[in-house]
Amino acid sequence: MSANETLPVPAAKRKLGNSEIEVSTIAWGMWRLAENGRTAADAAKLVHAALDAGMNFLDTADIYGFDGAGGFGDAEALLGEVLAAEPALRARMVLASKGGIMPPLPYDQSAAYLASAIDASLKRLRTDTIDLYQIHRPDILAHPQEVARTLDDAVKAGKVRTLGVSNFTIHQVAALNQFLDNKLVSTQPEISPLRITCFENGELDQAMMLGLTPLGWSPLGGGRLANPQSERDKAVAVELDRVAGAQGVSRTVAAYSWLMAHPAGIIPIVGSQQPGRIAEATEAYKVRWSRQDWYAVLVAARGERLP
Ligand code: NAP
Repeated sequence: MSANETLPVPAAKRKLGNSEIEVSTIAWGMWRLAENGRTAADAAKLVHAALDAGMNFLDTADIYGFDGAGGFGDAEALLGEVLAAEPALRARMVLASKGGIMPPLPYDQSAAYLASAIDASLKRLRTDTIDLYQIHRPDILAHPQEVARTLDDAVKAGKVRTLGVSNFTIHQVAALNQFLDNKLVSTQPEISPLRITCFENGELDQAMMLGLTPLGWSPLGGGRLANPQSERDKAVAVELDRVAGAQGVSRTVAAYSWLMAHPAGIIPIVGSQQPGRIAEATEAYKVRWSRQDWYAVLVAARGERLP
Protein backbone atom coordinates (compact mmCIF):
# COMPACT_ATOMS: atom_id res chain seq x y z
CA MET A 1 0.00 0.00 0.00
CA SER A 2 1.47 3.35 -0.99
CA ALA A 3 1.30 6.38 1.27
CA ASN A 4 -1.69 7.77 -0.65
CA GLU A 5 -3.76 4.61 -0.61
CA THR A 6 -6.48 4.21 1.98
CA LEU A 7 -7.71 1.19 3.90
CA PRO A 8 -10.64 -0.70 2.32
CA VAL A 9 -14.08 0.73 3.04
CA PRO A 10 -16.60 -1.77 4.46
CA ALA A 11 -19.68 -2.75 2.44
CA ALA A 12 -22.98 -1.54 3.88
CA LYS A 13 -24.12 -5.15 4.40
CA ARG A 14 -22.38 -8.37 5.39
CA LYS A 15 -23.28 -11.89 6.48
CA LEU A 16 -23.58 -12.40 10.21
CA GLY A 17 -20.71 -14.77 10.99
CA ASN A 18 -21.03 -17.92 8.92
CA SER A 19 -24.82 -17.64 8.78
CA GLU A 20 -26.93 -16.60 5.82
CA ILE A 21 -28.36 -13.62 7.72
CA GLU A 22 -27.50 -10.29 6.12
CA VAL A 23 -26.84 -7.43 8.53
CA SER A 24 -25.96 -3.79 8.14
CA THR A 25 -22.36 -3.03 9.06
CA ILE A 26 -23.53 -0.36 11.49
CA ALA A 27 -25.94 -1.51 14.19
CA TRP A 28 -28.24 0.41 16.51
CA GLY A 29 -28.34 -0.36 20.24
CA MET A 30 -31.21 -0.02 22.70
CA TRP A 31 -29.45 -0.03 26.05
CA ARG A 32 -30.79 3.44 26.72
CA LEU A 33 -34.18 3.02 25.02
CA ALA A 34 -36.31 2.73 28.15
CA GLU A 35 -34.86 5.89 29.71
CA ASN A 36 -36.32 9.40 30.01
CA GLY A 37 -39.93 8.19 30.15
CA ARG A 38 -39.85 7.18 26.49
CA THR A 39 -43.22 5.90 25.25
CA ALA A 40 -43.79 3.23 22.59
CA ALA A 41 -44.49 6.03 20.10
CA ASP A 42 -41.14 7.67 20.96
CA ALA A 43 -39.39 4.31 20.66
CA ALA A 44 -41.06 3.66 17.28
CA LYS A 45 -39.57 6.91 15.93
CA LEU A 46 -36.09 5.69 16.87
CA VAL A 47 -36.64 2.26 15.35
CA HIS A 48 -37.80 3.93 12.15
CA ALA A 49 -34.80 6.27 12.20
CA ALA A 50 -32.43 3.30 12.34
CA LEU A 51 -34.24 1.23 9.70
CA ASP A 52 -34.71 4.20 7.37
CA ALA A 53 -30.97 4.95 7.63
CA GLY A 54 -30.29 1.41 6.39
CA MET A 55 -29.41 -0.13 9.76
CA ASN A 56 -31.30 -3.39 9.99
CA PHE A 57 -29.23 -4.78 12.89
CA LEU A 58 -30.81 -3.90 16.24
CA ASP A 59 -29.28 -4.90 19.56
CA THR A 60 -31.05 -5.13 22.90
CA ALA A 61 -30.83 -7.23 26.10
CA ASP A 62 -33.21 -8.43 28.77
CA ILE A 63 -31.39 -6.40 31.41
CA TYR A 64 -31.65 -3.10 29.50
CA GLY A 65 -33.92 -0.76 31.37
CA PHE A 66 -32.89 -2.31 34.69
CA ASP A 67 -33.03 0.50 37.19
CA GLY A 68 -32.05 -1.40 40.31
CA ALA A 69 -35.67 -1.42 41.46
CA GLY A 70 -37.43 -4.04 39.38
CA GLY A 71 -37.30 -2.43 35.96
CA PHE A 72 -35.95 -5.64 34.44
CA GLY A 73 -36.85 -6.22 30.78
CA ASP A 74 -38.13 -2.72 30.11
CA ALA A 75 -36.17 -2.06 26.90
CA GLU A 76 -37.25 -5.39 25.38
CA ALA A 77 -40.84 -4.76 26.47
CA LEU A 78 -40.82 -1.30 24.87
CA LEU A 79 -39.57 -2.74 21.59
CA GLY A 80 -42.24 -5.44 21.94
CA GLU A 81 -44.88 -2.70 22.12
CA VAL A 82 -43.45 -1.10 18.99
CA LEU A 83 -43.61 -4.45 17.18
CA ALA A 84 -47.15 -5.15 18.39
CA ALA A 85 -48.32 -1.79 17.04
CA GLU A 86 -46.48 -2.23 13.73
CA PRO A 87 -45.83 -5.96 13.12
CA ALA A 88 -44.38 -5.33 9.64
CA LEU A 89 -41.29 -3.82 11.29
CA ARG A 90 -40.16 -7.23 12.51
CA ALA A 91 -39.28 -8.48 9.02
CA ARG A 92 -37.18 -5.38 8.39
CA MET A 93 -34.83 -6.05 11.30
CA VAL A 94 -32.27 -8.58 12.42
CA LEU A 95 -33.10 -8.67 16.09
CA ALA A 96 -30.30 -9.33 18.58
CA SER A 97 -30.84 -9.74 22.28
CA LYS A 98 -28.90 -11.04 25.27
CA GLY A 99 -29.46 -12.82 28.54
CA GLY A 100 -27.67 -14.53 31.38
CA ILE A 101 -27.69 -11.77 33.98
CA MET A 102 -30.50 -11.57 36.50
CA PRO A 103 -29.92 -9.22 39.43
CA PRO A 104 -29.25 -9.58 42.29
CA LEU A 105 -27.26 -12.63 41.10
CA PRO A 106 -24.15 -11.59 39.23
CA TYR A 107 -24.53 -14.04 36.34
CA ASP A 108 -26.67 -17.11 35.79
CA GLN A 109 -26.35 -19.42 32.82
CA SER A 110 -27.62 -22.58 34.48
CA ALA A 111 -29.78 -24.59 32.07
CA ALA A 112 -33.03 -23.85 33.88
CA TYR A 113 -32.46 -20.12 34.18
CA LEU A 114 -31.10 -19.58 30.67
CA ALA A 115 -33.97 -21.50 29.06
CA SER A 116 -36.48 -19.45 31.04
CA ALA A 117 -34.67 -16.20 30.14
CA ILE A 118 -34.95 -16.97 26.42
CA ASP A 119 -38.68 -17.65 26.77
CA ALA A 120 -39.16 -14.45 28.77
CA SER A 121 -37.30 -12.39 26.12
CA LEU A 122 -39.48 -13.83 23.35
CA LYS A 123 -42.59 -12.96 25.32
CA ARG A 124 -41.50 -9.38 26.05
CA LEU A 125 -40.35 -8.82 22.47
CA ARG A 126 -43.61 -10.30 21.19
CA THR A 127 -41.80 -12.29 18.55
CA ASP A 128 -41.49 -16.00 17.71
CA THR A 129 -37.75 -15.96 17.24
CA ILE A 130 -34.67 -13.92 18.12
CA ASP A 131 -32.24 -13.68 15.20
CA LEU A 132 -29.10 -13.47 17.35
CA TYR A 133 -29.13 -14.57 20.99
CA GLN A 134 -26.04 -13.59 22.95
CA ILE A 135 -24.78 -14.59 26.36
CA HIS A 136 -24.35 -11.17 27.94
CA ARG A 137 -21.47 -11.91 30.31
CA PRO A 138 -19.88 -15.26 31.15
CA ASP A 139 -21.14 -17.16 34.19
CA ILE A 140 -18.01 -18.64 35.72
CA LEU A 141 -20.10 -21.26 37.50
CA ALA A 142 -21.76 -22.64 34.36
CA HIS A 143 -19.96 -25.41 32.49
CA PRO A 144 -19.73 -24.42 28.82
CA GLN A 145 -21.12 -27.82 27.85
CA GLU A 146 -24.29 -27.13 29.82
CA VAL A 147 -24.61 -23.62 28.35
CA ALA A 148 -24.06 -25.02 24.85
CA ARG A 149 -26.77 -27.63 25.32
CA THR A 150 -29.30 -25.02 26.41
CA LEU A 151 -28.42 -22.75 23.49
CA ASP A 152 -28.50 -25.59 20.94
CA ASP A 153 -31.91 -26.64 22.29
CA ALA A 154 -33.18 -23.08 21.77
CA VAL A 155 -31.94 -23.12 18.16
CA LYS A 156 -33.49 -26.56 17.60
CA ALA A 157 -36.81 -25.29 18.96
CA GLY A 158 -36.67 -22.31 16.57
CA LYS A 159 -36.63 -19.83 19.47
CA VAL A 160 -33.34 -18.32 18.33
CA ARG A 161 -31.68 -18.45 14.92
CA THR A 162 -28.00 -17.83 15.69
CA LEU A 163 -25.77 -17.57 18.74
CA GLY A 164 -23.26 -15.05 20.02
CA VAL A 165 -21.40 -13.96 23.13
CA SER A 166 -20.46 -10.70 24.76
CA ASN A 167 -17.63 -9.84 27.14
CA PHE A 168 -16.09 -13.31 26.81
CA THR A 169 -12.34 -13.91 26.90
CA ILE A 170 -10.82 -15.74 23.96
CA HIS A 171 -10.63 -18.94 26.00
CA GLN A 172 -14.26 -18.65 27.07
CA VAL A 173 -15.27 -18.19 23.41
CA ALA A 174 -13.23 -21.25 22.41
CA ALA A 175 -14.63 -23.42 25.22
CA LEU A 176 -18.27 -22.60 24.49
CA ASN A 177 -17.80 -22.92 20.73
CA GLN A 178 -16.21 -26.33 21.18
CA PHE A 179 -19.39 -27.74 22.71
CA LEU A 180 -21.90 -26.02 20.40
CA ASP A 181 -23.53 -27.79 17.45
CA ASN A 182 -24.63 -24.36 16.21
CA LYS A 183 -21.33 -22.50 16.25
CA LEU A 184 -21.08 -18.90 17.42
CA VAL A 185 -21.56 -16.21 14.77
CA SER A 186 -20.64 -13.13 16.80
CA THR A 187 -18.79 -11.68 19.72
CA GLN A 188 -19.51 -8.34 21.39
CA PRO A 189 -16.66 -6.73 23.31
CA GLU A 190 -16.42 -3.09 24.29
CA ILE A 191 -14.50 -1.43 21.44
CA SER A 192 -13.91 2.25 20.81
CA PRO A 193 -11.03 4.60 20.18
CA LEU A 194 -10.99 4.91 23.99
CA ARG A 195 -11.14 1.16 24.59
CA ILE A 196 -8.55 -0.55 22.45
CA THR A 197 -7.75 -3.71 24.45
CA CYS A 198 -9.16 -6.12 21.90
CA PHE A 199 -6.90 -4.79 19.15
CA GLU A 200 -3.97 -6.37 20.93
CA ASN A 201 -5.29 -9.10 23.24
CA GLY A 202 -6.23 -11.60 20.54
CA GLU A 203 -10.03 -11.21 20.66
CA LEU A 204 -10.28 -9.77 17.16
CA ASP A 205 -7.76 -12.26 15.81
CA GLN A 206 -9.90 -15.05 17.20
CA ALA A 207 -12.99 -13.47 15.63
CA MET A 208 -11.27 -13.49 12.24
CA MET A 209 -10.06 -17.06 12.76
CA LEU A 210 -13.52 -18.38 13.69
CA GLY A 211 -15.44 -16.11 11.30
CA LEU A 212 -17.25 -14.31 14.14
CA THR A 213 -18.74 -10.90 13.47
CA PRO A 214 -17.39 -8.50 16.10
CA LEU A 215 -19.98 -6.04 17.42
CA GLY A 216 -18.41 -3.08 19.21
CA TRP A 217 -20.32 -1.87 22.24
CA SER A 218 -20.07 1.75 23.45
CA PRO A 219 -18.21 2.85 20.29
CA LEU A 220 -17.99 6.41 21.66
CA GLY A 221 -16.87 5.23 25.10
CA GLY A 222 -20.43 5.71 26.36
CA GLY A 223 -20.43 9.28 25.00
CA ARG A 224 -17.05 10.28 26.48
CA LEU A 225 -15.62 10.88 23.03
CA ALA A 226 -18.17 13.60 22.39
CA ASN A 227 -17.01 15.43 25.49
CA PRO A 228 -13.51 14.24 26.40
CA GLN A 229 -12.25 15.20 29.84
CA SER A 230 -8.95 13.45 30.50
CA GLU A 231 -5.72 14.39 28.68
CA ARG A 232 -5.65 11.00 27.03
CA ASP A 233 -9.27 11.20 25.83
CA LYS A 234 -8.61 14.70 24.48
CA ALA A 235 -5.54 13.48 22.59
CA VAL A 236 -7.64 10.77 20.92
CA ALA A 237 -10.27 13.37 20.02
CA VAL A 238 -7.60 15.56 18.40
CA GLU A 239 -6.52 12.72 16.11
CA LEU A 240 -10.11 11.88 15.18
CA ASP A 241 -10.87 15.56 14.57
CA ARG A 242 -7.98 15.86 12.12
CA VAL A 243 -9.52 13.22 9.87
CA ALA A 244 -13.10 14.33 10.55
CA GLY A 245 -12.26 17.96 9.66
CA ALA A 246 -10.48 16.99 6.45
CA GLN A 247 -13.39 14.81 5.32
CA GLY A 248 -16.31 16.94 6.46
CA VAL A 249 -17.78 14.62 9.09
CA SER A 250 -18.20 14.83 12.84
CA ARG A 251 -15.79 13.33 15.34
CA THR A 252 -18.33 10.65 16.28
CA VAL A 253 -18.70 9.58 12.65
CA ALA A 254 -14.90 9.43 12.37
CA ALA A 255 -14.87 7.22 15.48
CA TYR A 256 -17.36 4.72 13.98
CA SER A 257 -15.42 4.62 10.71
CA TRP A 258 -12.13 4.10 12.55
CA LEU A 259 -13.54 0.90 14.08
CA MET A 260 -15.01 -0.18 10.75
CA ALA A 261 -11.62 0.13 9.03
CA HIS A 262 -10.29 -2.83 11.05
CA PRO A 263 -9.98 -6.02 8.95
CA ALA A 264 -12.18 -8.03 11.36
CA GLY A 265 -15.15 -5.99 10.10
CA ILE A 266 -16.15 -4.46 13.42
CA ILE A 267 -19.81 -3.39 13.51
CA PRO A 268 -20.16 -0.40 15.83
CA ILE A 269 -23.38 -0.40 17.85
CA VAL A 270 -24.57 3.19 17.74
CA GLY A 271 -25.93 4.05 21.18
CA SER A 272 -27.57 7.41 20.52
CA GLN A 273 -31.31 7.68 21.10
CA GLN A 274 -31.68 10.74 18.88
CA PRO A 275 -33.01 10.21 15.33
CA GLY A 276 -30.63 12.78 13.80
CA ARG A 277 -27.56 11.23 15.37
CA ILE A 278 -28.66 7.70 14.42
CA ALA A 279 -29.06 8.75 10.78
CA GLU A 280 -25.77 10.66 10.80
CA ALA A 281 -23.84 7.50 11.74
CA THR A 282 -24.12 6.16 8.17
CA GLU A 283 -21.83 8.97 7.00
CA ALA A 284 -19.13 6.65 8.33
CA TYR A 285 -19.17 4.90 4.94
CA LYS A 286 -17.73 8.07 3.37
CA VAL A 287 -14.64 8.26 5.54
CA ARG A 288 -11.31 7.02 4.19
CA TRP A 289 -8.50 6.08 6.58
CA SER A 290 -4.83 5.95 5.70
CA ARG A 291 -2.65 3.62 7.74
CA GLN A 292 -0.85 6.67 9.09
CA ASP A 293 -4.03 8.33 10.39
CA TRP A 294 -5.44 5.07 11.73
CA TYR A 295 -2.31 4.34 13.75
CA ALA A 296 -2.17 7.94 14.98
CA VAL A 297 -5.53 7.37 16.75
CA LEU A 298 -4.27 4.09 18.20
CA VAL A 299 -1.08 5.65 19.46
CA ALA A 300 -3.01 8.51 21.07
CA ALA A 301 -5.25 5.93 22.77
CA ARG A 302 -2.24 3.92 23.97
CA GLY A 303 -0.65 7.06 25.34
CA GLU A 304 2.73 5.84 24.13
CA ARG A 305 4.39 4.96 20.86
CA LEU A 306 4.17 1.52 19.39
CA PRO A 307 7.35 -0.47 19.90
P1 NAP B 1 -21.96 5.12 22.75
O1 NAP B 1 -22.21 5.45 21.31
O2 NAP B 1 -20.58 4.93 23.19
O3 NAP B 1 -22.62 6.25 23.67
C1 NAP B 1 -23.90 6.74 23.40
C2 NAP B 1 -24.18 7.85 24.37
O4 NAP B 1 -23.40 8.99 23.98
C3 NAP B 1 -25.64 8.28 24.35
O5 NAP B 1 -26.05 8.56 25.67
C4 NAP B 1 -25.61 9.54 23.52
O6 NAP B 1 -26.61 10.49 23.89
C5 NAP B 1 -24.26 10.11 23.92
N1 NAP B 1 -23.75 11.09 22.96
C6 NAP B 1 -23.28 12.32 23.27
N2 NAP B 1 -22.93 13.00 22.18
C7 NAP B 1 -23.16 12.19 21.13
C8 NAP B 1 -23.00 12.35 19.72
N3 NAP B 1 -22.52 13.47 19.17
N4 NAP B 1 -23.35 11.34 18.93
C9 NAP B 1 -23.83 10.18 19.45
N5 NAP B 1 -24.02 9.98 20.78
C10 NAP B 1 -23.69 10.98 21.62
O7 NAP B 1 -22.81 3.81 22.99
P2 NAP B 1 -23.59 3.18 24.27
O8 NAP B 1 -24.95 3.75 24.33
O9 NAP B 1 -22.75 3.26 25.49
O10 NAP B 1 -23.64 1.67 23.80
C11 NAP B 1 -24.13 1.34 22.51
C12 NAP B 1 -24.79 0.01 22.52
O11 NAP B 1 -23.84 -0.99 22.88
C13 NAP B 1 -25.92 -0.18 23.54
O12 NAP B 1 -27.14 0.38 23.11
C14 NAP B 1 -25.97 -1.67 23.62
O13 NAP B 1 -26.70 -2.20 22.53
C15 NAP B 1 -24.52 -2.06 23.52
N6 NAP B 1 -23.90 -2.29 24.85
C16 NAP B 1 -23.56 -3.56 25.16
C17 NAP B 1 -22.95 -3.83 26.37
C18 NAP B 1 -22.57 -5.25 26.66
O14 NAP B 1 -22.14 -5.55 27.78
N7 NAP B 1 -22.68 -6.13 25.71
C19 NAP B 1 -22.70 -2.81 27.29
C20 NAP B 1 -23.06 -1.51 26.95
C21 NAP B 1 -23.64 -1.26 25.72
P3 NAP B 1 -27.90 10.74 22.93
O15 NAP B 1 -28.77 9.54 23.05
O16 NAP B 1 -28.50 11.97 23.53
O17 NAP B 1 -27.41 10.98 21.53
